[in-house]
Amino acid sequence: MTDQKKTELLGMSQTELEDFVVSISEPKFRARQLYKWIYQKQTASFYDMSDIPRDLRFKLDDIAQISIPRFLKQRVSQDGTRKFLLEMNDKKRVETVIIPQTHEKNTQYTVCISSQVGCPIGCAFCATGAGGFQRNLLAYEIAGQVLSSRRELAKRLKRNEIDLITNVVYMGMGEPLLNYDEMIKSVYMLNEHNGINIGQRHITISTAGEVSGIKRLLQEDLQLTLAISLHACDNDLRNELVPINKKYPLEMLLDAAREYSKKSNRRVTFEYVLLDEVNTRKKDAEAMIKLLKPILANVNLIPYNEVSGLDFKRPSNHRINQFYQWLTAGGLNVTLREERGTDIEAACGQLAAKKDRQT
Ligand code: SF4
Repeated sequence: MTDQKKTELLGMSQTELEDFVVSISEPKFRARQLYKWIYQKQTASFYDMSDIPRDLRFKLDDIAQISIPRFLKQRVSQDGTRKFLLEMNDKKRVETVIIPQTHEKNTQYTVCISSQVGCPIGCAFCATGAGGFQRNLLAYEIAGQVLSSRRELAKRLKRNEIDLITNVVYMGMGEPLLNYDEMIKSVYMLNEHNGINIGQRHITISTAGEVSGIKRLLQEDLQLTLAISLHACDNDLRNELVPINKKYPLEMLLDAAREYSKKSNRRVTFEYVLLDEVNTRKKDAEAMIKLLKPILANVNLIPYNEVSGLDFKRPSNHRINQFYQWLTAGGLNVTLREERGTDIEAACGQLAAKKDRQT
């Protein structure tokens, strides 16, 4: 059970934990122990903290809590991708997707986390957008998804959790840059060397085009990967598909992307969902080449994962390959994304927590 009156320890830095333990008349070194239990061992119960004296465990349980999102259930895809349904203190639920990547027989995982419950952007083809927006997640609820995923995954795979998750992408439910303060706080939590310890270059922030957020990100001294959901290369079509384009049209978005890649000296990834007879014509490829050629960019093509109730269709394999060829012949750096988790509705644009949606 969680309690509003209890002090939330998840999200505290080691210094903040020190202030907390000193405020309850305990020695400073207890903060180090708590920090390890929370961020390295993803422990939510004080009673499991074996190197903390019994009396202190009871005392902590009376006054504090560690709200690692509760795991409710999972679906596992044929390709090994997992979708976890996680619940926050107020019973709001989000979906988190865990994608395995195997290199030389060693499998490590990328976690795709949510930054909001629902999404206010309303992209025309997206299940999350169709469900509307409920609330922003707090920093500890965002980073907590990684802890929860690591704990559940380690339990199921019977593996040491510490190096299990190597990459985090803010690509689940929500627009992370519309929840900037909590998003960036969660990035620092994930990156903390003595804690969750995900390298900055292994963290990707994916945006639908929140230009003011990209500009704020530029001010941070961080080496994060920026991914932009492009989906259309002329303003009229993009206004329809990704409505934030009416506020920040392509010219503004591309300027911000160019600035980001210049400052970070890194490629910006442009995500492009392939919609049959909508954005996969020859002229769409030509427009993209013109738009992205001057930028240090990677293009990630994502064949559409159909969502019941929405009218968009996935193009034929022939058209998908043809579109890919047009772009590469035009000199762009293009990847055709390997599809993961489509059978469990864990793929891009399919997240909705729909069977369990809270009202
Ligand atoms: S695609 Fe992303 S930004 Fe667009 S509605 Fe869905 S979750 Fe929101």
